[in-house]
Amino acid sequence: MSDMDQYVVVDETFGPTFQGEGSSAGRYAHFIRLFGCRLSCAWCDSPQTHDATRCDVAAEQRILSIEDVTSWLAADPAGLLVITGGEPLLQPHVVGRLLCAIRERALATDIEIETSGAIAPADMITSAVTRFNVSPKLAHSGLRRHQRIRPAVLRGFADSGKAIWKFVVQELDDLDEIQDLVDTYGLHPVWVMPEGTDSATVLARMRMLADPVLARRWHLSTRLHTLLWENDRGR
Ligand code: SF4
Repeated sequence: MSDMDQYVVVDETFGPTFQGEGSSAGRYAHFIRLFGCRLSCAWCDSPQTHDATRCDVAAEQRILSIEDVTSWLAADPAGLLVITGGEPLLQPHVVGRLLCAIRERALATDIEIETSGAIAPADMITSAVTRFNVSPKLAHSGLRRHQRIRPAVLRGFADSGKAIWKFVVQELDDLDEIQDLVDTYGLHPVWVMPEGTDSATVLARMRMLADPVLARRWHLSTRLHTLLWENDRGR
């Protein structure tokens, strides 16, 4: 077994708090935010996980063993564990082993992984998770299409039966772009979430989006942590 299989590179662990986004918003939850991402979304709300031009990433990085993480969770076994990033699927071996250890010790009832949908998950991860919260990036991310839309990966998530699709939206026109992806790749169910790191922006965009999202028979996600605590870290 290599070191890659034994240690997870983490930005932060935090909780208890609430899952702020998507289909589990409002649930009591613990979070593991993994280090690293190869993308560079213009509005990224967690640049400390990877962006050396904006943050002191060396100071953010922590190396934890699987035992470190399971001991932390054992102190308050989670109904819901959210593994976010960064991009959690960049560490497939150790994340797969970590999830197996958490399942074996019954340290979480449900496990969600939040991913950009640009990397296919290892089978071990797919077996262990309850749900993938897949968030393909739209054109306003500033990424090139081939970086953010990986057709085979999206189809794989859709076929897993474990994906919900959460799109970050700035403007009403973004809904047409989502519709095109939904129709092309058979994405279901869809959650539309406003982009924003302050409560006023999130609320204004939710109000703008509410009726158009209803008209498409999609779901609307808030950013509960932002409404409650603005842009505080670790909430
Ligand atoms: S995929 Fe996520 S972590 Fe990576 S740059 Fe985009 S928003 Fe940030």
